[in-house]
Amino acid sequence: MNKKFLSLWVVDPIKTYAAPARVNLIGEHIDYNGGHVLPCAISLYIKAAVSFNEEKKINLVSEDMKGQISVDLSNTQYDKSYSWASYPIGVIHILREMGYKVDKGLNMLFSSEIPLGSGLSSSAAILVLTTYVLNDLFDLGLSNLEIAKIAIKVEREYCGLSCGIMDQSAIALAQKDKCLYLDCASFEYEYKNAVLEKTKIMILNTKYERKLTDSKYNERVSECQKALSIIKTKYGVDNLCELDPKDLPDIGILLNDDLLYKRVKHCVREEARVKAFVTALDEKDYSLCGKILNESHFSLRDDYEVSGTNLDVITEIARNNPYVYGARMTGAGFGGCAVALVDEEHAYQVKDEVLTKYKERFGYDAEVYLIDTSDGPKVL
Ligand code: ADP
Ligand code: MG
Repeated sequence: MNKKFLSLWVVDPIKTYAAPARVNLIGEHIDYNGGHVLPCAISLYIKAAVSFNEEKKINLVSEDMKGQISVDLSNTQYDKSYSWASYPIGVIHILREMGYKVDKGLNMLFSSEIPLGSGLSSSAAILVLTTYVLNDLFDLGLSNLEIAKIAIKVEREYCGLSCGIMDQSAIALAQKDKCLYLDCASFEYEYKNAVLEKTKIMILNTKYERKLTDSKYNERVSECQKALSIIKTKYGVDNLCELDPKDLPDIGILLNDDLLYKRVKHCVREEARVKAFVTALDEKDYSLCGKILNESHFSLRDDYEVSGTNLDVITEIARNNPYVYGARMTGAGFGGCAVALVDEEHAYQVKDEVLTKYKERFGYDAEVYLIDTSDGPKVL
């Protein structure tokens, strides 16, 4: 990275930073419905090398993208042409808008081992990383919770995705060996032990590119809002995840709309699954954890309709292996990654089988990562 940096801007970087990806173990598509989620940061990282410049320019290069994007520090309004660079530029824009003193030009080179657009939240990683870098360089005095909140604001208000609070929080607040049990309605959180005895978290990347994910994502958000507006008054709730699963049949009648009912059913039952999963994890009942993962996948496939053939097949291959407790898609869906809980001793055997069978079925390679949990952003 340093060589590339030097060749780009004829100076050495003054500092290099890193932020992890995250995987959500359970609680999918409910962060924007006031539910609980259980993500942990994982040992795949995006790095940023930085230096100041005297020209008050923001110069951005990513080893994972083509070309260089340069803007004046005083002219950071959203522009479609920024493409990927709208994430770091957005952070600078929003911080300055909030009154933080970010008043020098910067050269930033990013390099990542997080697969992009695959459900491991490379977008939150680049946002949290940039906010962390600026906080450090300009001495802004932000806590990691404030960093998460600013990254959320940027993805929502600058990048235009009506995202929940999970991804940025999972990364900014991460602690090794822990997962974050986060209440997305109140922003309250606690850490749960993620040290799994003789068990490993495995990420299965379908390498199937998600298409139209953002528009489908925003579509689900508005379907849930529509359903909530119908149910809200009668059940006295502010979020779908506050509903009681035993009220589902009556809610179905009230909604009188099959599609909206399926969306609500997923949210309500997924919320119950998160709570059951947390208990099972505390009790080290990995078989039950696995069963809950499987049920979550079926609900995302059939009721929330955000899975896809590749995700269905890769999780089924895993699920059919005797050393896998359970597997489900993770992230927004439609492609990208799944997560599985596997017996540690047989993890490589599981990996080989998934890779072989997946290739037989689709004719191209999946990727499988055996990961550890990780701390949050840091200076290297
Ligand atoms: P996910 O967050 O699941 O990985 P998103 O579609 O939300 O998927 O975010 C992916 C986008 O984030 C990329 O298309 C790109 O714009 C930006 N991004 C993430 N990592 C990098 C990187 N290393 N370099 C440049 N852009 C990145
Ligand atoms: Mg994202």
